[in-house]
Amino acid sequence: MHYISTRGRTPPMGFQDTVLEGLAPDGGLLIPERIPDVRDRLSYWATLSYQDLTFEVLREFVDLPGEDLRGLIERAYKAFAHPEIAPAWRVGPVWILELFHGPTLAFKDIALQFLSQFFEYVLEKRDARLNILGATSGDTGSAAIHGVRGQKRVNIFIMHPHGRVSPLQEKQMTSVLDANVFNLAIDGTFDDCQTIMKSVFRDVEFKRRYSLGSINSVNWARVMAQIVYYFSSGLYVMAQTGAPRVSFSVPTGNFGDVLAGWYAAQMGLPVGQLVLATNENDILARFFNTGTYRVGHVVPTLSPSMDIQVASNFERYLFYRMDRRADALSAAMESFAKTGSLSVSGRDELFRAGVGKTEDTLATIRRYRDEHGYLMDPHTAVGVHVAERHVRAEEPMICLSTAHPAKFSAAIEQATGSDCAHHPTLDALRDAPTRCDRLPNDEKAVRAYLAARVG
Ligand SMILES: *Cc1c(COP(=O)(O)O)cnc(C)c1O
Repeated sequence: MHYISTRGRTPPMGFQDTVLEGLAPDGGLLIPERIPDVRDRLSYWATLSYQDLTFEVLREFVDLPGEDLRGLIERAYKAFAHPEIAPAWRVGPVWILELFHGPTLAFKDIALQFLSQFFEYVLEKRDARLNILGATSGDTGSAAIHGVRGQKRVNIFIMHPHGRVSPLQEKQMTSVLDANVFNLAIDGTFDDCQTIMKSVFRDVEFKRRYSLGSINSVNWARVMAQIVYYFSSGLYVMAQTGAPRVSFSVPTGNFGDVLAGWYAAQMGLPVGQLVLATNENDILARFFNTGTYRVGHVVPTLSPSMDIQVASNFERYLFYRMDRRADALSAAMESFAKTGSLSVSGRDELFRAGVGKTEDTLATIRRYRDEHGYLMDPHTAVGVHVAERHVRAEEPMICLSTAHPAKFSAAIEQATGSDCAHHPTLDALRDAPTRCDRLPNDEKAVRAYLAARVG
């Protein structure tokens, strides 16, 4: 499989370079040159373990020797606490797909454990080193840090918005004291961190000189690894219920997770609806309901990993929506950068979009605990709230549960009135020592920091 840029000005490249590059040199996002059709394999795939299914799905996209790929997958999912990796349960009117059994208790472990194994593997083979620069609204950073901590060929620099990630999320990152881990608290929002990151990556000269790599969901490997659980849960729920297809509800921020679901549907998984759920930061919900994508101001919510306005993966989807016309897409993105707005005609019938506000989030957490004995985190609750409006017979609704409730225990306490969400890994962090550097919202300061430490 070769990969091309959404902006159309990068020669096609192989999987390994695609993952090491992160963002395409022309500023676009890298996507597979074609989407594989796997419909004739679904009944076989329904019989596989999570790891074996991962092997089958990834084999469609990567150019690694089979044995090596199997080894990477085995190592990536060894650190998961549940034998099924991503189990799905029926809870009231929906199914809940638990994606939080990895080391940092959020769904990002699923892709980042794999990506970290891949980096170690390919850097060893090439006798190379990599300096990862990333921006996080909370969960990506800790999942990436936990993936690569202690690796010899990788340094990791993670920017988070100072004071805007939950204290526990911050602790999960800053308590990792390995010498190759650098936490940067930026005086700004997540979007500011992401803007700095994108701008640094666009400087191809700087990127080469410092061997910069990306773990943000602009990296194709992230999206790719997430495609797997749509197949695993969709095939499982269809087998359990006898339904001809399934729907998914996805609490959305950067559009990486739901995009993986879109790819799964294009590959041939029978998907009725893809429900895109946002919190008050509803730029994507507005886009799918009106056709206009217009930036607003970020407001902090109980689901901080979705407090995002400019969704970096959206460009991949837009490329397909614009009939794969790289020139039209480039023009649209350039004009969006100037005006903060873009419009697309027509509708995508696969998508449904809705908003779960703070009061909906709290009410959903409370109701599922009281009526079904199930405690969910606030991101999951946003997805479940919107999903309930789209449940149809013959089309089981699978709600992606993106974090363990204990990661957001203050919101749980606000919803239920009791401090009932705990996890031993997190409880152990409360008094752990930390290391972090505070930086102004200034690209130059970040470049200087990095240059001083990489040498
Ligand atoms: C990152 C994250 C999301 C949003 O996922 P995207 O791929 O950015 O849309 C939702 N919930 C949690 C807990 C997350 O960490």
